[in-house]
Amino acid sequence: MLLIVDPNHWLDADGNLPEEPRLRRRVLRVARFIEYGGPLPEGSLRETLVECNRRPHRKACPGLMWVRKEPDDSIVAFCMICKQDEMVIHSWQETLWAEGMMEPILERELPALH
Ligand SMILES: [Zn+2]
Repeated sequence: MLLIVDPNHWLDADGNLPEEPRLRRRVLRVARFIEYGGPLPEGSLRETLVECNRRPHRKACPGLMWVRKEPDDSIVAFCMICKQDEMVIHSWQETLWAEGMMEPILERELPALH
């Protein structure tokens, strides 16, 4: 079943992840797809290190998920191996993960952040 996801439903006012462990795991999966897919140009795609969680014929799918940026700016997460679309993410643009991986921080500058 294809999920239509608006991550803002699960984030607090500051955009942080929920604390409840099960929900947190689910939203983290969405956040990873945003981090990989947000920076993509429209119509392009990339592989992620997020594992497919489908079990076709009761065997775990060995695939890694891919993300694709759609013409309407939504992000589709899908598996090339079992050929399943897992979710379509919209309204992700204002989330903490929209710009992709965080920029590197020099270790010597880290104490200044505390
Ligand atoms: Zn799969």
